[in-house]
Amino acid sequence: MRPAGAILFAILVAASAAAQSPPPVTVIRAGTLIDGKSGSPRRDQVIVVRGNRIESVGDAGKIALPAGAAVIDLSRATVLPGLIDCHTHIFLQGEEPSEGGYDVQLLKYPLAFRAARAAVSARRALEQGFTTIRDVETEGAGYGDVGIKQAIDGGYIPGPRMFVVTRAISTTGGYPLEGYAPEIEVPKGVQIVDGPVEARKAAREQLDHGADWIKVYMTHRSWLDAAGNLVSQPTLTLDEIRAIVDETHGWGKKIACHAYNGVGLHRALDGGCDSIEHGLDLDDAAVAQMVKQGTWYCPTMSVYYNDQGPADTPAGKRDRKRVAVHGPSLQKAMKAGVKIAFGTDVGGFPWTQPIAQEFPHLVEFGMSPMAAIQSATVNAAEMLGMSGQLGVVAPGAYADVVAVPGDPLKNVKELERVSFVMKDGKVFLNETRP
Ligand SMILES: [Zn+2]
Repeated sequence: MRPAGAILFAILVAASAAAQSPPPVTVIRAGTLIDGKSGSPRRDQVIVVRGNRIESVGDAGKIALPAGAAVIDLSRATVLPGLIDCHTHIFLQGEEPSEGGYDVQLLKYPLAFRAARAAVSARRALEQGFTTIRDVETEGAGYGDVGIKQAIDGGYIPGPRMFVVTRAISTTGGYPLEGYAPEIEVPKGVQIVDGPVEARKAAREQLDHGADWIKVYMTHRSWLDAAGNLVSQPTLTLDEIRAIVDETHGWGKKIACHAYNGVGLHRALDGGCDSIEHGLDLDDAAVAQMVKQGTWYCPTMSVYYNDQGPADTPAGKRDRKRVAVHGPSLQKAMKAGVKIAFGTDVGGFPWTQPIAQEFPHLVEFGMSPMAAIQSATVNAAEMLGMSGQLGVVAPGAYADVVAVPGDPLKNVKELERVSFVMKDGKVFLNETRP
């Protein structure tokens, strides 16, 4: 080898050694560990993180600590898997009526403005310990969620892992904007389809442009009938939802269906939906079918407490009825053994509010704090097809780890006080006092 070649060779060897330098190793000392899988917490645990994965978990003193590892002391905290919110809208900001409500976002806000705010929402999720979200449509912001996800994955902005649905699908008369003069064309918050051909084509387009899930609105308007029962307008026909489910399952992806109750809910289930969103008013037949088909239930309690019209108006009465039936539906689903994944509809309420406000609602209706935590960790991961990768603190999982100062099994509101967030092996937040 000539000298110049030898030098070049030496440079290449050094460069490849640098590229292959071992990933950083971090040791987390956990005073209490809720690992997602186990139904009971464990005391004085050690978690070894190598690169972006958890390598080992075990009793302090029994587990070998790698030499030179950075140590994070959470020995006075409760450590949990990164939380998962399966129903978010980073492109919504709480729709404050005095600020123009929903409509102004589609009619007056430039897309870049909405994207900038969505980036802030994504950061809000992460800093509250939600290291994964399923964001269930951009509300007129097109494929903006794919772009935000790309920016997070590329390390340009902080945010959670995102599963995105892009534009979502409903039918003519099945989504805002509405209430304008018929002569005026206004944008819609979703992709509108009529007929199975258009339905399948919309699913194909959305999957082609990066949808991880497909979101379908199976009910739209709701009101009270003469007897005071909640009634919901169905949207897609069985043929239309079947076309979408068939197409989407062919791509190996799943379908989330917004459905309150009645005809639309039953079409969603007959059509083979993978998750029912909101499911405010589940009848016994729907619950039985969900158990039989393994359909996930993603109740979203908080948003309906947040968003209510004046008590003496038809809309206000309907809004209170929605809240009144939601809890009993959750109880029915729990009793029957329906699989439940945590979701909040944050964005439907402002991102300035705590996402974890959903947990006390679940507990109020009889879910144990541990089960509520599991709905937002191991169960949510299962729904997302990420069992063993997300939602657990266990060897082989992604190193998504959070902590709270107190005991969330005693007071589930503790989950609003996340003081430590690691995502993908990197510490994003650490306010824990050792
Ligand atoms: Zn929603």
